[in-house]
Amino acid sequence: MKKSVAHIEHCYGCGVCAISCGQKAIEMQLDAYGFYRPVVDADKCTDCGLCCKSCAYLDDALAVEERMPQEWFAGWSEDAETVASCSSGGVAYELAKKALESGYKVVGVRYDVEKGRAEHMVCASVEELEQTKGSKYLPSYTVDAFAQIKKGEKWMVVGTPCQIDSLRRYVKMWKMEDDVLFMDFFCHGVPSYNMWAKNVAMFFKGTKAKSIAFRSKKNRATNEAWPWHASYVVTCHDIRGGYHQPCLQGHTNWFYYYFLDNLCLGKQCYEKCKYKMYKSAADIRIGDAWSSAYEDNEKGVSAVLAFTDKGAEMLRALKNVHKEEIELERLCEGQMRVMPKEPAFYGLRLRLMKMKGLRFGHIEKLIGLLSKLTGKK
Ligand SMILES: Cc1cc2nc3c(=O)[nH]c(=O)nc-3n(C[C@H](O)[C@H](O)[C@H](O)COP(=O)(O)OP(=O)(O)OC[C@H]3O[C@@H](n4cnc5c(N)ncnc54)[C@H](O)[C@@H]3O)c2cc1C
Ligand code: SF4
Ligand code: SF4
Ligand code: SF4
Repeated sequence: MKKSVAHIEHCYGCGVCAISCGQKAIEMQLDAYGFYRPVVDADKCTDCGLCCKSCAYLDDALAVEERMPQEWFAGWSEDAETVASCSSGGVAYELAKKALESGYKVVGVRYDVEKGRAEHMVCASVEELEQTKGSKYLPSYTVDAFAQIKKGEKWMVVGTPCQIDSLRRYVKMWKMEDDVLFMDFFCHGVPSYNMWAKNVAMFFKGTKAKSIAFRSKKNRATNEAWPWHASYVVTCHDIRGGYHQPCLQGHTNWFYYYFLDNLCLGKQCYEKCKYKMYKSAADIRIGDAWSSAYEDNEKGVSAVLAFTDKGAEMLRALKNVHKEEIELERLCEGQMRVMPKEPAFYGLRLRLMKMKGLRFGHIEKLIGLLSKLTGKK
């Protein structure tokens, strides 16, 4: 296993090594911190080294020459229902719909309530694409969907920048680059499944969930529209049509406290993220346009950037999207420019989250005490 990915401890968890391995020797499993990592079966591994060739974590450079965006806009779908059900302006959804119409299959992310995980899926119809609407702020399980990407068909793949960087290497290796259109997003980081599982246990325990929305533009308690700038609310819809919306904005909202305050992201997001601002191996990058130019827009605005001719062509082909011209730096105001700092007691916090019976409040009291005693933050 010397030439395999077995020696890597905290990688991107993108799963591309698993689809690269002809021996099917790699399984993606959650580690002690709650992130996907490859586990190599020594009995199956022939030490061919193929898995390392498509691994973006092992390379400090991107899979492509670094380049600046060639076209960009701020915009939103002209369909109000699409904007209401997507995370920002629904342009990612409109791009995926356009790709379907143009003969692509779309590989995007849904949340599986039974498995309690985000996972990539292959969409061949608009009905399937509906499931990928909205951000799922979790690391996605990629292997089953990525393994279906084959030569001879057209594919649009949406993923975190690190997933896309590895997948582009794989696609290049198999000479499929012309068949694939890549879309990534400005990426804050992915939070731990240990935190997510405790969040579900504390707030949605016993609920027979039909779906979970990570961003919500409707206050379910009053049925009124919720402003986009305050849409960081997790809502669980049960099978009888009810909902559970345990917390609103601010620090009583544990999920977003941990996620947005960078307390339990993957180690890779603190140590080896090479994808901030304009660094991308994708054709298109999307995001929330948090720019001050849109501070009064409470429905949702997407930031959309094309790095390649293929990406720019796709942006131009979009018809039912309202597009606004804006300076690039203004469009990208508010995006993370550098990696966040790993918090003190990072590993301890994530391990404590695995302990049943301990609530978030207990864990934070203990970490607070340790912080006081040691002076570490
Ligand atoms: C983990 C994560 C971190 C993000 N961080 C930022 C950020 O720092 N700044 C910013 O501007 N935007 C960030 N985004 C993107 C943002 O949340 C919206 O997805 C983006 O604004 C597009 O929204 P939309 O309304 O156009 O379409 P939507 O329909 O909301 O688009 C969602 C798209 O994202 C894909 N997707 C959903 N969950 C995942 C996942 N877990 N992994 C991979 N792909 C997924 C879906 O397949 C779909 O194509 C992040 C998204 C994720 C998943
Ligand atoms: S970064 Fe991706 S390809 Fe590299 S070892 Fe991790 S899961 Fe495998
Ligand atoms: S058989 Fe080759 S591709 Fe598979 S794990 Fe071993 S080195 Fe990697
Ligand atoms: S922050 Fe960087 S390393 Fe972390 S998931 Fe996003 S792209 Fe990957």
